Amino acid sequence: MEKTIDEKKQGKPLVLEQEKGNTRKLFIESYGCAMNFSDSEIVASILSGEGFNTTQNLEEADLVLVNTCSIREKAELTVRKRLEKYNAVKKHNPKMKVGVLGCMAERLKTKFLEEEKIVDLVVGPDAYKDLPNLLAEVDEGRNAVNVILSKDETYGDVSPVRLNSNGVTAFVSITRGCDNMCTFCVVPFTRGRERSRDPQSIIEEVNDLWEKGFKEITLLGQNVDSYLWYGGGLKKDFTKASEMQQATAVRFSDLLELCAKAQPKMRIRFSTSNPQDMTLDVVETMAKYDNICNYIHLPVQSGSNRILKEMNRQHTVEDYKQLISDIKNIIPDCGISQDMIVGFPTETEEDHRDTMALMEYVKYDFGYMFAYSERPGTMAERKMDDDVPAEIKQRRLAEIVDLQLKHSAYRTKQFVGKTVEVLIEKTSKKSEIEWSGRTHQSTVAVFPKEHYKVGDFVSVKIHDCTGATLIGEAIGYSKNN
Ligand code: SF4
Repeated sequence: MEKTIDEKKQGKPLVLEQEKGNTRKLFIESYGCAMNFSDSEIVASILSGEGFNTTQNLEEADLVLVNTCSIREKAELTVRKRLEKYNAVKKHNPKMKVGVLGCMAERLKTKFLEEEKIVDLVVGPDAYKDLPNLLAEVDEGRNAVNVILSKDETYGDVSPVRLNSNGVTAFVSITRGCDNMCTFCVVPFTRGRERSRDPQSIIEEVNDLWEKGFKEITLLGQNVDSYLWYGGGLKKDFTKASEMQQATAVRFSDLLELCAKAQPKMRIRFSTSNPQDMTLDVVETMAKYDNICNYIHLPVQSGSNRILKEMNRQHTVEDYKQLISDIKNIIPDCGISQDMIVGFPTETEEDHRDTMALMEYVKYDFGYMFAYSERPGTMAERKMDDDVPAEIKQRRLAEIVDLQLKHSAYRTKQFVGKTVEVLIEKTSKKSEIEWSGRTHQSTVAVFPKEHYKVGDFVSVKIHDCTGATLIGEAIGYSKNN
């Protein structure tokens, strides 16, 4: 596999892994969560073995794949717009084949072919290894579909081809699927039951990334806290495993420790956590290793116990607050971010005030906030009316976004006057002469480039900030460089 460097905008080197001798061109784009971006790297690897190299140029593609998201209606509309774009391109490039991957493909299945005539191929998140066979069918002029969800597929034996990579940070997927069945969520239907990847293959990937010069990994899963390796198979079948398997099972805190020890200078992050599955041994393991970043993305979705119940979230607001204070006790400077949904069916002004009160209690570093979007096939869609009017949803959304901006500014200001370790990722968006990178808490920091380079760990003295960005001066390499 050879690497070519393609200078993209903002001076960010773009590492493209290309196989010598491959002649076919794959254009692949991804939407939605980090799992989709990580899966696209698996797909690029599988197709690299079938003679495909990736291209950034849609016009020259033999195969165009879009990895789709189904989490909100807007995400699906975005994909349909892209398919229109492909349609226009196909007029000049009739040999081009089009395929849809990911959650929308899994949700719609063969219906996708009926609804979008340009689509030749529909492949669900667990069926990417079948792509060579499916493509053979397409090459013979037939449509092809595989949306079977798996009980054990983790792609642990596929070495991802890094796409749009800065050569510094990379995703490493550790679990697939989700068993939690939150009533608003489509993921359990589009990604199947929870299963964890062999820790050995995860460590091999971490070591390989370090060899290739990467400095930070994010361990990925819909629900990383319920990582549980006991030799393969579904998490829900763990109780049927042998005593030996149960006794030697690897849990998330064990995996974190294995990764931290494997590459002591590699920064380690993880996402996404779930408050009902998070255990304090994970936080204690974070505190024990310098290279595990002091940051947790901890979605809560609502601050009202009544709404949490309607969402089938298996914790109360009080449980969540207790977890937050336990985290802050063990790691006082831990950065915490949230996911929030406003306008869930039956949400009242009082429920909304409860959400604002929880945000006031935590004062999150940042968050991802959305208005409720009814998803076909979910429990909420089947059992509840989407009864909160759109304008009330938008007003409540604006209120929590404003509150979050205030809290982000409060948290960012706390770094002024301090020295933080920053891993340089790219040139700052705002200035060609400044580097941009992130602190342990995943807060962005910018500072003059001087003699430093992408991939350096630098100690930066912070003298100012905006609402979300730290502004500073490099005072030398950090001890981890
Ligand atoms: S934990 Fe809930 S919200 Fe998250 S992926 Fe699973 S079902 Fe969806």
